Amino acid sequence: LVRARNVHKRFGANEVLKGIDMDVQAGEVVVILGPSGSGKSTFLRCINHLETMDQGSITVGDQQIGYELRGEQLHRLSPRAIAHQRRGIGMVFQQFNLYPHMTVLENIMEAPVGVHGRSKTESRARALELLEKVGLSEKTQAYPRQLSGGQQQRVAIARALAIQPTLILFDEPTSALDPELVGEVLATMRDLADQGLTMIVVTHEIGFAKEAADRVVFMDGGIVVEEGKPAEVLCNPQHPRTRAFLSRFI
Ligand code: ATP
Ligand code: MG
Repeated sequence: LVRARNVHKRFGANEVLKGIDMDVQAGEVVVILGPSGSGKSTFLRCINHLETMDQGSITVGDQQIGYELRGEQLHRLSPRAIAHQRRGIGMVFQQFNLYPHMTVLENIMEAPVGVHGRSKTESRARALELLEKVGLSEKTQAYPRQLSGGQQQRVAIARALAIQPTLILFDEPTSALDPELVGEVLATMRDLADQGLTMIVVTHEIGFAKEAADRVVFMDGGIVVEEGKPAEVLCNPQHPRTRAFLSRFI
């Protein structure tokens, strides 16, 4: 589903991504691990074109991010066309980024109705289903400030699902949460993984990686240092940098 080749990104003199290759199959759950500043967020942001890469390519499904093929030639897409491309990709951030002035239900209905032009009746029915799925059926009329961090993040996950994405990106979804609230969000994510959603998850939750990931990718210094099955990478890392990183979690 996702195919990244030789992705480079620099901010001024700082080369943050130095040629990332990554493939993600439909239905696969890939966890990206790596130290702070290794380029994990930047890579996720390149996938949905929140950042423009300098070199390389990323395709999601049959679409090359940021470009379209006209005849034999690739053309850069307009901002409008990029927004269109992004529609199939859900994203969940560390900070939940809910609209504070909207209720939970309105937050979830916003993109389907406002961006995708679906009917309110259909979007509402789907939003209620999703809220049930994330265990928040009784909070439909609450405002974000009336919810715990864990509840807000579950709303953010429901909101990302509301556009029926083919791919969902998570950038440290539990890092801003109090420890006792991490479990409920991870449980929600595990359900999604079991349902066959394609997910790329940047997280420091090694337990989640062990149990829910099909594959773990370790990034450091803007490159993929090592990747493989969770048991291989987490329990028997081959590269010294992976070992050094993982030793902090024991
Ligand atoms: P963390 O675990 O702390 O979230 P990360 O692996 O997600 O780290 P990135 O956020 O991708 O790392 O950042 C990689 C590098 O790129 C950092 O050195 C950061 O300062 C730099 N960087 C990221 N975004 C920008 C930006 N918009 N402008 C300039 N530099 C940036
Ligand atoms: Mg980050």
